[in-house]
Amino acid sequence: METVLQTDQAYKVFEGFVAINNVSIDLKKGEKHAIIGPNGAGKTTLFNLITGHLGLDSGSVSFEGKDITGTAPHRIVKLGLARSFQRINIYPRMTVFENVQVALIARDGRSFHLFTLGHSLNCEESAELLELVGLSDEAEEMAGKLAYGKQKQLELAISLASNPSVLLLDEPTAGMSPAETVEAIKLIEEITEARSLALLFTEHDMGVVFGIADRISVLHHGELIFSGPPDRVREDPEVRRVYLGQSHGAA
Ligand code: ADP
Ligand code: MG
Repeated sequence: METVLQTDQAYKVFEGFVAINNVSIDLKKGEKHAIIGPNGAGKTTLFNLITGHLGLDSGSVSFEGKDITGTAPHRIVKLGLARSFQRINIYPRMTVFENVQVALIARDGRSFHLFTLGHSLNCEESAELLELVGLSDEAEEMAGKLAYGKQKQLELAISLASNPSVLLLDEPTAGMSPAETVEAIKLIEEITEARSLALLFTEHDMGVVFGIADRISVLHHGELIFSGPPDRVREDPEVRRVYLGQSHGAA
């Protein structure tokens, strides 16, 4: 299977604290790969290193065979690697439709003027993206007024505006109700399928992880202690000891 994304011995220190310790992971074409680990394990930091939001102290990152170490985040997005953040990242005072429109205008490298919104630019594609994430009926609502789960759906549409081949989702169901979580997962699966995306995601809900992932990697204190198929992770003694055993008991 073709590798689309790879870190090689990624290493990051925050004032003497080793947050990511020589982590080498990869993502194959079309794969759904979950990164799990206790709070503070380094999952978000690893994402930030991959997307260029943080610089590596050593090691490298490559995307579709190209070394992207040190590349600026907006350039990495342009190459086809999109992400969502743990925090909501939308324009609350614009409509849902305009939020997507702005993302498409930015992708095309155009500057936008508020008065051009709602008019001609990228209307068809905006509508398509909203349909894809199930927000067609909310197109004219103020983004900030949407329920939390729907704001996350909007964020997904915004991430997809750059036509990515790889999507990184950091805790996509955090803060969601059980019902919203079920919807979000269904949507993520539909979208990865519809757009043939490879997915790298972090998630604290093990039901979600085992429901979606083709592969699971486990981070602990910044180190990769396991990477393999879901049916093997539960049996790995090291993983049981440091992670699953802690939060889910030994059963
Ligand atoms: P996770 O996402 O797995 O919960 P993080 O990647 O957010 O973990 O954090 C890993 C560790 O690095 C934590 O101990 C955190 O406090 C520390 N850390 C993260 N970002 C910074 C930063 N910008 N400066 C200093 N320490 C940080
Ligand atoms: Mg995190």
